[in-house]
Amino acid sequence: MQVCPIKVASRAAKGFVAAVCIIILVLEAWTSWHERSTEMDESFRATANMALALSQHADQALDEVDIVLKAVMEQVQDKRLATTDNERLHNFLVRNVSEVPQLAGLFVYDEKGRWIASSQPVLETRFNNSDRDYFQHHQAHQADTTFIGKPIRSKSTGHWVLTMSRRVSKPDGSFGGVVLATLDIQFFERFYHKFDIGQQGAILFGSNDGTVLYRRPLLADSMGKSLAQSPLFQQHIKVQEAGAVESRSTQDGILRIHGFKHLANYPLFVIVAVSEDEVLHGWARHAIVRGVGIIVLLLAICYGGTRMVAQVSLRERAQADAVRAQAELEAMFELLQTQSRRDGLTGAINRRHFDELLEAEAARFARVGGAFSLLMIDVDHFKQYNDRYGHVVGDVCLKNIAAAISGAVQREIDTVARYGGEEFSVLLPECGSAGALVVAERIEAAVRARAIPHASSVEGTVTVSIGITSITSDEGFSYLPRELIESADKALYQAKEAGRGRAVYREFPVRKPKLAWSA
Ligand code: GH3
Ligand code: MG
Ligand code: MG
Repeated sequence: MQVCPIKVASRAAKGFVAAVCIIILVLEAWTSWHERSTEMDESFRATANMALALSQHADQALDEVDIVLKAVMEQVQDKRLATTDNERLHNFLVRNVSEVPQLAGLFVYDEKGRWIASSQPVLETRFNNSDRDYFQHHQAHQADTTFIGKPIRSKSTGHWVLTMSRRVSKPDGSFGGVVLATLDIQFFERFYHKFDIGQQGAILFGSNDGTVLYRRPLLADSMGKSLAQSPLFQQHIKVQEAGAVESRSTQDGILRIHGFKHLANYPLFVIVAVSEDEVLHGWARHAIVRGVGIIVLLLAICYGGTRMVAQVSLRERAQADAVRAQAELEAMFELLQTQSRRDGLTGAINRRHFDELLEAEAARFARVGGAFSLLMIDVDHFKQYNDRYGHVVGDVCLKNIAAAISGAVQREIDTVARYGGEEFSVLLPECGSAGALVVAERIEAAVRARAIPHASSVEGTVTVSIGITSITSDEGFSYLPRELIESADKALYQAKEAGRGRAVYREFPVRKPKLAWSA
């Protein structure tokens, strides 16, 4: 199947425009995706690093309080705790609270939860703290370790505080009371507010059982709330020392990147979370601006491409039209040339072209020599045929005879021509006298076989007389076409003389060329 070059060219142009658009789109999408990934990776790193810094800060703050707790323990351990002689202990507690900023207060309770000493100016005796979880913890556990309780509202000040406590044991090992340090939540709040975590970010300080000790921003129910059942806690914080993950908040539905880190010395952890929307805000704005630019660029390319394709199509169509017109012209020229070489009535080669062919054959013969024959054919008593049947029938008869002659001449290189009137000639290149005689007799028989009635002829049918002439020579011999025709004509005359309806052969008189050296 032939493919139209116009369509190929415009298809190629369309393909080129489409390929450019696709490449730009793919590159843009890839760049954009890459930038988004980089932005996200940086946020993962930043939140993880911030969580590490905050956990170290918390570790340090708690370590300082723990040192104070131990110092207070040394003051009260192995001494009989009584409300009376605790002036010295009171002063010790006050001094420590003033020196350690995260400390809100220091308290000593006896085994019944009664207040023995505190850092407050006046020792409260109205309250009993035996209901507090830290108190009950130490009552039940003998371990000499620091206990970090749930955030509570101070009974004396009403502020949220974190508690760190140690058990006081009597000399016999039995429970003797509790030393308690309360940590000011505001200390952590002040520190955490220094960090930029965006509008929707969060910082959370919690204990390993999932209890929230502090959250920025502080929500109404944040303090003491349990995160234990949240997927973030279950799948990551509970099982990993540190990390950074993306997860959607069960509380406000915001998708955040969470960096978390457990404290080194305490069963606590810190989470720093930033909203993905805020992290990607700059990237999204940049992507939108660039996206609009790319769309404008693609539209421009499409517009230019369409114009280009149209131009290419137009030019190609014009070229195809020109090619088609040229082909039509050539075909017409070919037809005209063929027609100009043919006889209108019989379709045989006409006299003019016959002369050209004979001329060309004479030149070829002069170059290469060989054999060549010419037949001159004349219809017998054709004047009488015309007279009897009329010119129109005469024309039909001539067409019939021409067809009979052409049918009898079989080689491609042979030429049948209408020489004039009711005379035909046949050129037989590379054909000697024997061959020419065979062809002539075949022609004569073919015409006779047509059995065209001719009542005015003795034979009763149309016959032809044929004069044959042939030459055989080496190269270098030349003849004039006229000489050859005269020779064939003479043979034809002899055929007529001999009674018509036959072929007569006449040898062409060959003249040897004069050789230069024999002069
Ligand atoms: P001969 O056997 O001696 O050849 O006798 P003839 O009658 O054929 O002799 P002549 O050559 O004198 O006559 C040729 C005739 O052929 C004369 C003319 O009327 C006729 N003729 C020539 N051209 C055409 C043609 O195109 N159509 C028709 N119908 N007749 C033609
Ligand atoms: Mg004649
Ligand atoms: Mg004749």
